[in-house]
Amino acid sequence: VSSRDFHPNDSIIKTNHSIIGGNHFIFMAGPDSIESAEHVLEMGRQVKAAGATILRGGAFKPRTSPYSFQGNGEVGLKAHRAAADELGMDMITEILDTRDVDLVDSYTDIFQVGTRNMQNFALLKALGQKRKPVVLKRGMSATIDDLLNAAEYIAAGGNTQIMLMERGIRTYDNKYTRNTIDVSAIPVLQSLTHYPVIADASHAAGVAKFVTPLALAATAAGSQGLMTEIHDDPEHAFVDGAQALTPEAFSQLADKVRKIHDIV
Ligand code: PEP
Repeated sequence: VSSRDFHPNDSIIKTNHSIIGGNHFIFMAGPDSIESAEHVLEMGRQVKAAGATILRGGAFKPRTSPYSFQGNGEVGLKAHRAAADELGMDMITEILDTRDVDLVDSYTDIFQVGTRNMQNFALLKALGQKRKPVVLKRGMSATIDDLLNAAEYIAAGGNTQIMLMERGIRTYDNKYTRNTIDVSAIPVLQSLTHYPVIADASHAAGVAKFVTPLALAATAAGSQGLMTEIHDDPEHAFVDGAQALTPEAFSQLADKVRKIHDIV
């Protein structure tokens, strides 16, 4: 189902405020985690002004340490939904657990499956039963075929509103960046599948100063959108402040990205 052999044209996914795929370019941006209702609303306002139509933010956070902040759960989902509605944006949030599928479904416009859950087949099957877009992030150690097979788990259930996300993979040198963005995966995936392919330079970089160059490279390689983390006070962000761009830096990134997208 996912192969371009069966679907030669690019899939286009339409949400209330966004058109994703084909020649359209989409910005998904927002804080790593939903910290408070006021904060997500203000961050949403700023990324919308820079051109984002999809507001990101995690209410369930997959943290490396069990002692780190795990997210605000349903309180976060509510705040995120309210901000997206007030601003006229789509909401995307990560789903970690099959038990939360209906809960998250009742708030979000787009499900996000994170790198750590790319091969959580029970979760993928559950999302296959929904008729709502899913962003499937590439596992940090997954091959391209692993990613395509994971997407097929969702599609096999009848949900083909899938976006694939390159967010960096583990390589032999991840000392200076968190992961290595696999720029080549973008055109390769587009040649193999009809789904939109989007890049997340924030998690690939892990460091704010490298986010813009990686985002530009991904755009030049044909990415059909970007996911970017922003924070107005990165040092005090609840999660991953080191990779957060300020809203102003995001606005500058978006201007540059639009220029590159116009020529590719
Ligand atoms: C995220 O986008 O919040 C996230 C945790 O990303 P990843 O799954 O790519 O690490």
